Amino acid sequence: MASTQRRVQVLAPEVARKIAAGEVIERPASVVRELLDNAIDAGAGSVELQIANGGIDSVRLVDDGWGISPEDLSTCILPHATSKIRSAEDLEHVASLGFRGEALASIAAVARLEITSRTPGNDTAYRLTAEAGKAKPPQPVAAQPGTTVVVNNLFYCVPARKKFLKNPRAESAAVRATLTERATAFPELQFRFFVDGSLRAFYPPASASERIAALFADAVPANQLHEIRGSGPGFQITTVLAAPEHYRRDRKQIQVFVNRRRIAEFAFVQAVEHAFTPFMAGGRFPIACVFIECEPELVDFNVHPAKKEVRFRTKAEIRRRLVEVIREFLHAYDRSRHDLRTVPPADHGTPPPASETSTAGLFTEDKEQGLSAGERVAMIHRSRAPIVPDTPPAPAGAEFRYLGQVYGVFLLVEYRGRLFALDQHAAHERVLYERYRAHRNRQQLLVPIEIEADETQERHLSASQAAWAELGLTLTQLAPGRWRIEAVPAACRDEEQLLSEAVLEAAPHTDSLSDRFYTELACKAAVRDGDPLEPGAAEQLISDTLRLPQQRCPHGRPLWIEISREELFRRAQRL
Ligand code: ADP
Ligand code: MG
Repeated sequence: MASTQRRVQVLAPEVARKIAAGEVIERPASVVRELLDNAIDAGAGSVELQIANGGIDSVRLVDDGWGISPEDLSTCILPHATSKIRSAEDLEHVASLGFRGEALASIAAVARLEITSRTPGNDTAYRLTAEAGKAKPPQPVAAQPGTTVVVNNLFYCVPARKKFLKNPRAESAAVRATLTERATAFPELQFRFFVDGSLRAFYPPASASERIAALFADAVPANQLHEIRGSGPGFQITTVLAAPEHYRRDRKQIQVFVNRRRIAEFAFVQAVEHAFTPFMAGGRFPIACVFIECEPELVDFNVHPAKKEVRFRTKAEIRRRLVEVIREFLHAYDRSRHDLRTVPPADHGTPPPASETSTAGLFTEDKEQGLSAGERVAMIHRSRAPIVPDTPPAPAGAEFRYLGQVYGVFLLVEYRGRLFALDQHAAHERVLYERYRAHRNRQQLLVPIEIEADETQERHLSASQAAWAELGLTLTQLAPGRWRIEAVPAACRDEEQLLSEAVLEAAPHTDSLSDRFYTELACKAAVRDGDPLEPGAAEQLISDTLRLPQQRCPHGRPLWIEISREELFRRAQRL
């Protein structure tokens, strides 16, 4: 990443003192992290990593970068020896992954280190060996241009540290995770990974989404990944994400990189989650890699010895923009996939081809699949029929035929020659939610509604009182533990019985109060599973649903499920 090669020098003590100190080498994966960073900083196009016995016996990294001159070889293993910064001011604009000048020195202190390097202008390579911090003068050897670093017998001279290592399998997994992180952030580089002599991974140079598809091939098919971009003052964001049909049950696959470094910054992970909330049902988490590139002056990595933490000058701005670009994409995606009005009419002239493997239709979010890694991600099959985006909305009501209610939950609808099941509760919820939001003028209640609140609820009500007022709901305290709703947004006034519960449930969420309130209220007021619906009411609900701007329920579930012709034909063994 450093764009030029400079001499290695030991930092002046006053500069060295400004660097966040801490243990850099804890386990083989930390050796690998530091060696990979050095190779990348040296402009390598291709790196090969080999480990033996989880990296405890040996780690070997071969790069084709610009190498280390024979003069610099002996210097580079000294504490605070670096070619990447010179002065304290340089710390403000670090563009390389490394800058502390401590990695090789720390490794040399706890392992047997061997560095062989050849610079492009040199016919000969030189090899430096160091043991327990003591180096021998570099010797000429034959080798390709670039650098090979071998770290043998980690912690052989510090048995107390060696005791803390896990078994080789666990160490090997940690090494792999480190490699994966770098491979995610540097798709233009080639990576090869060998464990105990056998090739375990090979990633040729690729685009960001191709690389992520290669890394997580088990979780998401490549054609389900989307690369979206956005920018703001001094920063750019590239996000590679899977459509909301793919998800995990934990946050592990929301990864954030700043200037190509993976960071553990919860604010950004949360931002991604937040952006997906309207598109994903509860307990599900998106799959997304966020790459933020910002001017080095805007971030400070000199906080944590392993650079996992970062200080930002424009965190709020980046966060806001991140949510915005993801939402924009998801809305457009949803319109093209989950909005019935964009469905092209079925062509029933010819039966579907026998080779069709798709079992699920346009909107089916089908079963979660077990992955080789024991992880579970929901998969969706691609539709056979092309989806035509941006089709102008059809006049609602004109093109559907209501066929009846099944299982007390679904309304069967024929629409443009295709068969759909509409989730009656989810659909009604969204219809009500939109209605509440559309008519927000305050309306005085003839009979105010009293709320009894326990201590916690009392706290939340007091804290949210102003936010309620803003929403059009007048909440006054009569006495400790006794409150009264005096006015509500006009569209909610029919839900009198449900208001106090919805208010209590939404009150703790002051930052998303209106959304919570309308969601709670809609959920309570909507037809329930098992409620019979008169045909007239069902038809009304279908036509209301077809007019919705967003055809998902407020909790993020899709409303329509297609029962495809292919599936029926296949199951009837007509194909
Ligand atoms: P830092 O990366 O913080 O500068 P290191 O101890 O990791 O400190 O490395 C010291 C120096 O050795 C680097 O600044 C760089 O000049 C040189 N170096 C280390 N590894 C390589 C490599 N693979 N290719 C070229 N130069 C390297
Ligand atoms: Mg380094």
